[in-house]
Amino acid sequence: MGVKVCKFGGTSVADANQFRKVQSIVKGDPERRYVVPSAPGKRHKDDRKITDLLYLCHEAAKQNFTFDEVFSIIADRYEQIVRDLGLSLRLGPTLDDVRRQIARNGATGGTADYAASRGEYLSGIITAELLGYEFIDAAEVIFFDAQGRYDDARTYMVLGERLKKSPRAVVPGFYGQSAIGAVKTFSRGGSDISGAIVARCAGADVYENWTDVSGLLMADPRIVENPRAIDTVTYRELRELAYMGATVLHDEAIFPVRKVGIPVNIRNTNDPDHPGTTILSQPTATTPIAHKITGIAGRKGFTVVNVEKAMMNAELGFGRRLLSVFEDNGVSYEHTPSGIDTMSVVVADSQINGKLERILEQLKVECNADAVDVDSDLALIATVGRGMAHTPGMAARLFNALAEASVNIRMIDQGSSELNIIVGVSGADFEKAVRAIYRAFVD
Ligand code: ASP
Repeated sequence: MGVKVCKFGGTSVADANQFRKVQSIVKGDPERRYVVPSAPGKRHKDDRKITDLLYLCHEAAKQNFTFDEVFSIIADRYEQIVRDLGLSLRLGPTLDDVRRQIARNGATGGTADYAASRGEYLSGIITAELLGYEFIDAAEVIFFDAQGRYDDARTYMVLGERLKKSPRAVVPGFYGQSAIGAVKTFSRGGSDISGAIVARCAGADVYENWTDVSGLLMADPRIVENPRAIDTVTYRELRELAYMGATVLHDEAIFPVRKVGIPVNIRNTNDPDHPGTTILSQPTATTPIAHKITGIAGRKGFTVVNVEKAMMNAELGFGRRLLSVFEDNGVSYEHTPSGIDTMSVVVADSQINGKLERILEQLKVECNADAVDVDSDLALIATVGRGMAHTPGMAARLFNALAEASVNIRMIDQGSSELNIIVGVSGADFEKAVRAIYRAFVD
């Protein structure tokens, strides 16, 4: 039988109703043997996340304020979940202990990490009881080294062994044990990392990341109405999309599974029949490509510095001198499209703001340029897709779509991997251009 590891995010365990969905998802597939829950998140827009409330308790304790009122909101929420689920679990003594430990502020038990980790700890106890799975405290099986970095070798050994003895278990997300034996958390949102670690240690066939959206979307839904979900995406494509502004899982969150080639499947707890998005290391020959492109992402706020000099192409070291001006000013660049006698440097406004005048002066001197000018308000749009490589006509389709939408293209860049085509358009045309590209490639 295969092994699936399921991580459930905060909204998936926000109340008893959501916990029931988790139960039916896990019970619906016997291969779902390991479960990694987050702490209860928001039930509605104005709600509070349990993790935030726990940090608040710790802060108050640190300043010697009472935090009983905040803590009782936390305790009530857990007690209500247990009650509504009809479990016979008695959480009272555990909650009392957590409150006492937080009040001991300063001692090993009273750190911010300890306080925050209890959200997942309590969630884990409830999930294990609900599913009839064994509860494994993450502090016993996930380790950090003396520098505070995740200790992969030790974790792999301990958690790997432990899971071999536990055919079905719940491991709370977000935390582990520090080198001095205290509770230590990952960065915020870190349950994604815990899930990936459990998947790797269990040798899982798939890491299911259950959240409240049906996977990654092909375009920003604030720009394109009802964009389709991406069915499969490779890590390389994901990197291109994330770089251009699409919100996806954090790099750190997937590296444990990426390393060993375990696919990640992003799923929606509120729409469990939707297949979601699968992230693969390498697409196999049978991996379907639903559309020629995988996704479109982009950002506004770029500036182009154009440098012109006759016979530039024959001048040895010209490009290096030009880029060193940016480097000396601590400005990293995005692209360098060039012509015969021109070279342009595209930089993010956030990089160049306040330094532009000096850079222009230095360019004139260092490069002995005939002309230096600046185009501001550029937006970059990346059209990404492994299906584009070696397929004639893709660029034509893209440029036609932009022409028909009366969008002027100010820059073009296609990486040699043919994985993406990046176009620069004026900021005012950004949304119109994204919509036109989407329509051209997605029916
Ligand atoms: N509960 C933690 C947070 O809100 C970790 C997580 O949910 O992934 O950051």
